[in-house]
Amino acid sequence: MSKSDYYEVLGVSKSASDEEIKKAYRKMAVKYHPDKNPGDKTAEEKFKEVAEAYEVLRDSDKRSAYDRYGHGAFQQGGSSSGGWESGGFHDPFDIFREMFGGGGIGDFFGFGSGGSRRSGKQDGNDLQYKLKITLDEAFSGVEKTIRYAKNVTCEKCGGSGAAKGSKSVTCRKCGGTGIFSMRQGFFSMQQTCPDCHGVGTKIDTPCSHCNGTGRVREQCTTKVKIPAGVFDGANLRMGGAGEAGTNGGASGDLYIITAIEEDSRFDRRDEDLFCTQKISFTTAALGGEITVETIDGRATLKIPPGTQSETSFRMKGHGMPSLKYHGVRGSQYVKVMVDVPTKLSKEQKEKLLEFENLSGKDSGGFFQKLKKKFE
Ligand SMILES: [Zn+2]
Ligand SMILES: [Zn+2]
Repeated sequence: MSKSDYYEVLGVSKSASDEEIKKAYRKMAVKYHPDKNPGDKTAEEKFKEVAEAYEVLRDSDKRSAYDRYGHGAFQQGGSSSGGWESGGFHDPFDIFREMFGGGGIGDFFGFGSGGSRRSGKQDGNDLQYKLKITLDEAFSGVEKTIRYAKNVTCEKCGGSGAAKGSKSVTCRKCGGTGIFSMRQGFFSMQQTCPDCHGVGTKIDTPCSHCNGTGRVREQCTTKVKIPAGVFDGANLRMGGAGEAGTNGGASGDLYIITAIEEDSRFDRRDEDLFCTQKISFTTAALGGEITVETIDGRATLKIPPGTQSETSFRMKGHGMPSLKYHGVRGSQYVKVMVDVPTKLSKEQKEKLLEFENLSGKDSGGFFQKLKKKFE
């Protein structure tokens, strides 16, 4: 199918000025707009055609290329159809919006194309807050009040960003399309308009309180409930406590990340706690009971006779509470270290040597080490 000459399509001469071309397009676009010609395929084709012609002729680079090479200038990959899909042309409605600006004319014609992209609705950011707690707090659970800064909806303008009595005006940068096109030769790159963020309109007098952003930075406080048994690096989500959205977008969430401080008494692995405790060598040898510090008080641990140094004992139910199962607790593992005294009286020394003679040279263990120490 041979294409019509772009100048003929718009009904202008080859020497037409930019202004004449613009005027001609405006007239044609309104005339053939599908909303004015419902169901009329010919009008729809014509509407596309004038948009394509206008897109080329309004751009001096494209226009001079067209003057020199004709339609061939815009055909890619040997395709002869040169249509909207293959020729790299824009949506004819985008061209139309660019000409007529933002929401206004759309409402006039009653076409609701564009949708969410043009509403500028944006959800608020999620926030993260690192909350330091002690192991004891992790054990019992804790309620903390935290203070953090976030963007909230501006009260003065209710988040609209507009001063009282301010009007919406078409964004100049994008001509109300919400899309900013950069042209390089025959190619054009498109991005969301940085001035109006894709809305297509701007406020003529921005709210002074928020500088037109609709949001202000505010310190806020909130109560955080940390459950008993929480682990290091837990991620607690507080829905809607993040930053406010814009133009009716939803608020983000606040994520509380727990950081449990190192504890001088216990190491923790999941629900189990680990500690070391010194015992006397007589307790190790003869057995006995020792008092052990647990996360929630003291407990008694039985040491059997003949206990070697670095032996671990498990105390069931003395660990951290389970997050999953209510009332269930892990274990505490007590590693006993036999405490070798550094000072012995003459009498103590004699008794030990006596003991060694009684038990023979192969008694081994810490008595050997002890003897060496005092020799
Ligand atoms: Zn404001
Ligand atoms: Zn814009």
